[in-house]
Amino acid sequence: MTPRRIVVAGGGTAGWMAAAALARVLGRAVTVTLVESDAIGTVGVGESTIPPIITFNRLLGINEAEFMAATQATFKLGIQFDGWKTPDSGYFHSFGLTGKDHWAAGFQHFWLDGLSRGHAEPYDDYCLELIAAREGKFAHLPDDRLNYAYQLDSTLYGRFLRRMAEGDGAHRIEGRIAEVELDGTSGDIAALVLESGLRVEGDLFLDCTGFRALLIERALHVGFDDWTHWLPCDAAIAVQTASTGPAVPFTRATAHQAGWQWRIPLQHRVGNGIVYCSRYMAEDAALERLLGTIEGEVLTEPNRLRFTTGARRRQWHRNCIAIGLAGGFMEPLESTSIHLIQRAILRLIRMLPAGPVSPADVAEFNDQQHTDMVQIRDFLILHYKATERRDSAFWRQCAGMEIPDSLAQKIALFRDTGRVFRRNEELFAENSWVQVMMGQGIIPASHHPIAAKLSDDDLARLLATLRQGVAQTVAGLPHHADYVARYCGAAA
Ligand code: FAD
Repeated sequence: MTPRRIVVAGGGTAGWMAAAALARVLGRAVTVTLVESDAIGTVGVGESTIPPIITFNRLLGINEAEFMAATQATFKLGIQFDGWKTPDSGYFHSFGLTGKDHWAAGFQHFWLDGLSRGHAEPYDDYCLELIAAREGKFAHLPDDRLNYAYQLDSTLYGRFLRRMAEGDGAHRIEGRIAEVELDGTSGDIAALVLESGLRVEGDLFLDCTGFRALLIERALHVGFDDWTHWLPCDAAIAVQTASTGPAVPFTRATAHQAGWQWRIPLQHRVGNGIVYCSRYMAEDAALERLLGTIEGEVLTEPNRLRFTTGARRRQWHRNCIAIGLAGGFMEPLESTSIHLIQRAILRLIRMLPAGPVSPADVAEFNDQQHTDMVQIRDFLILHYKATERRDSAFWRQCAGMEIPDSLAQKIALFRDTGRVFRRNEELFAENSWVQVMMGQGIIPASHHPIAAKLSDDDLARLLATLRQGVAQTVAGLPHHADYVARYCGAAA
């Protein structure tokens, strides 16, 4: 059978992740050609990830230590959110579990019951990843007991993926795409025509051209659902700085009067950025705030970015699939963009057409991808809506906004009963929702009665055992920076 010709338009994280995965998993069953323009370059950000990237790397047979050395990566155990509930509040959204769930009721119910019986120890004390992060500790534990992701250099990640993809037979063409040629009869994409005149034909085209969305939008006009009324930030500025101390195993997201700032520690430097709403903050003010609050010598010119939050109405249309920023964008508050890229690629591999594209595959793909995006969207909106901040027009707007029914229902359920249910393989599990909802100030009015079946002594013993287990494990862990240096230290 003739190999399917897959053409990847764009060589950012999305393009090279797709090319690397397709070439490795499908081998001779496909040909992979990637077109990218050095003159245009990539978005140049995207450094914080979430745990499913581990599965993606394992599926591709990537050696973790080599990957981390090549991308100057550090481990990430979660995100420290400061200033979100009130300007001087803070909470941690960690990976992994807190305490021990009962099948009928999550651990938060037992913790809440304990609170009512005088056990005042914070919910945080029951989470291994959280306490390890706060103490700057990390090690691989047996049975993957410590859930983690990576903080990595996006440019180096692109180079790493490119080496891998080309090593597995993907073909790279440098040049600017001048035209997307459509088949006059079917309306499918027939070829990409480069400025040089070269025509690149294919069966399936992946639009990885970033915010430009050259194929899916400019050529195929699928339309865009704008979500800025729920997630109003529309601009960012990124700069890199020299490290001022050992890298910690977590990302920071610090709210300010019209958005928030990130800090992502890597082995060789720190990634920083400010995300803001241009209606409430001017670019000069955002830059001034960013430069005034970062630590360490500034290594790069500010990278200014504008975006519209939302999603393409169809991620797959005809013989074109949008992956990465071309498919839509939600701000990087929970580091979900690279994850959505990965989900789209794995989905495509599962649904790879053997012949002509089946409308049923397209519908299924779009449905699944849309569900992912909506679930992530709701989780992000939660951070803005559930705030006690009223100190700026931006926060007053966020607190007062109408939210999607799906999120309103989730908040109401938790507020009344302490319950959270995960639906349709939702990315963020119960523990994530509980940590963020309580961190943002939503404390359940009641909890599951099952916790009352434990006597005072039994409950005290359970809580103490769980806390001690966490504390003891963390005490035995090495410091994160030392572990990274030993395990995957990269040349500076
Ligand atoms: P790009 O990097 O923009 O790549 C587009 C490619 O298309 C480039 O190679 C370009 O040259 C090519 N191209 C475009 N037009 C043409 C043309 N005419 N001819 C030829 N080639 C063309 N994600 C996370 O998971 N974690 C984070 O912490 C995170 N932080 C972010 C912070 C900000 C401020 C922003 C805006 C995004 C962030 N993201 C993050 C998202 C992440 O950066 C992207 O999902 C990721 O980099 C993928 O980008 P991309 O490959 O889709 O687009």
